[in-house]
Amino acid sequence: MTSNSHASVGILPEGGGLVWASPEVFLTNKGKHPPQIAELIERLSRLPGLGPKSATRLALYFLGRETEEVRALAKALVAVKEEVSFCSVCHNYTQQDPCPICSSPERDADQICVVETPADLLAIETSGLYRGQYHVLGGVLSPLNGIGPSDLNIDDLVFRLDSRFEEGHPIREVLLATGSSPEAESTCVYLIDRLKDKGAAITRLARGLPVGVDLEYVDGGTLKQALEFRRQA
Ligand SMILES: [Zn+2]
Repeated sequence: MTSNSHASVGILPEGGGLVWASPEVFLTNKGKHPPQIAELIERLSRLPGLGPKSATRLALYFLGRETEEVRALAKALVAVKEEVSFCSVCHNYTQQDPCPICSSPERDADQICVVETPADLLAIETSGLYRGQYHVLGGVLSPLNGIGPSDLNIDDLVFRLDSRFEEGHPIREVLLATGSSPEAESTCVYLIDRLKDKGAAITRLARGLPVGVDLEYVDGGTLKQALEFRRQA
């Protein structure tokens, strides 16, 4: 064992349990530790991006923290599931349905900005340049990963446009604010086809966005420009 594998020793309280302080040692002694820890590791390793080693490191980290701190984390996890849901109109995260943006009389109800994720919505909100409403797709079309139109919130978007069109007050503009990945591109092509002839001008963000980068990672200046110079789709 190298001295490096002891790097996490300091996270445990002085005294008992130090032998388990390295994930490597812990994992090679499976079966000798309390079942509660084994269950925690098993559950943590199901999280995206966490293998058995990083899950073990995290479990040992929690073991070394104050009970109150861990309780607060557990409470936050439960609260997110019990108190936060998706807006039935735009599919953004919300504590109330419809969400504050959909129900705000100060937002332009004739303009819908279509984004991939709630994080993208937040990026556009932060720019302060957009005052319309949103529609969160929940991803992009990706046939290779088995993601088709019915896996995204596309039918609801079509419904929003259809119902306004039938009421005689069509949506004025649909801004397709997706990223620039090939999947996002084909999603736009698909959306343009589904949303045409519903009275709305369909626009897209201007080029200038870095290729292959998710919208949430784009710097404010680039995003501002892309919003200001959006073009007809
Ligand atoms: Zn909403």
